[in-house]
Amino acid sequence: MIILKIGGSILTNKDAAESEIDEKNLSRIAKEIKSSLDNDSKEIIIVHGAGSFGHPPAKEYKIGEPFDKDEYPQKRIGFSKTQNAVKRLNMLICDEFIKEDLPVVAVPASSFMVATNKRITEGDLDSFKRYLNKGFIPVIYGDVVLDNDLEICVISGDQIIQYLAKNLNPDKVILGTDVDGVYNKNPKTHDDAVFFDKFSSLEDLDTLEGTTNIDVTGGMVGKIKELLYLADLGIESKIINAEIENNIFKALNNDQVKGTVISRG
Ligand code: ADP
Repeated sequence: MIILKIGGSILTNKDAAESEIDEKNLSRIAKEIKSSLDNDSKEIIIVHGAGSFGHPPAKEYKIGEPFDKDEYPQKRIGFSKTQNAVKRLNMLICDEFIKEDLPVVAVPASSFMVATNKRITEGDLDSFKRYLNKGFIPVIYGDVVLDNDLEICVISGDQIIQYLAKNLNPDKVILGTDVDGVYNKNPKTHDDAVFFDKFSSLEDLDTLEGTTNIDVTGGMVGKIKELLYLADLGIESKIINAEIENNIFKALNNDQVKGTVISRG
């Protein structure tokens, strides 16, 4: 089984004021997944980020922050807006996958996962196993969920990856994003950033400041923290650049691809 995450940075234009899908990347990646499955059949779970669809309403309504009782109705509408926005993105993504004859089935986190203080603490994955057994490709994404402490919160695609991998023990965990992998500092703002083939400790980052995009779920540092947690459990993952043509195809086929392997070894 392979868990493949496609970042919001790849599928949406995160900087756009309006929610905008990156049609070119989406259609290319759908084709790459299809070719890889034509090459040899395998079980795949797809996780995608919320990108420019989920972040604006989550931010506007400060989902995940403590609030007074009388603010609850407003928060609840914020939850509905965010859930609907990421559902819309998921629908556009699934439309494209279905065009390629990929048998996707959306399994939204908001319909079965529950968090405690922003960490997923409940989520029965039996339906994932059943859909996989029947040859489907389950698709799950960054979403809003109920929270035992905070009433409601946002969970990132990266946290979902961690939860799925911890519970399903996949053979491979691949994360496609818009940079080649992990550097000692943000490569988009630092020309002298040094690339890591292997990454095993947050201490290898130059500075934690400025390491996040404008992103309510924490950008690269958030991602790495989730993956280091998996590494502690002995599950390796690899971050690759999904903007480069055929990288996803190659990674799914065990071909050599530039990227950062996150492991404690
Ligand atoms: P995604 O939406 O694909 O999950 P994010 O946008 O959350 O990804 O995180 C990827 C971004 O993190 C990159 O575009 C990069 O600008 C930024 N980033 C910040 N610090 C680093 C770093 N040390 N190494 C690599 N990327 C970094």
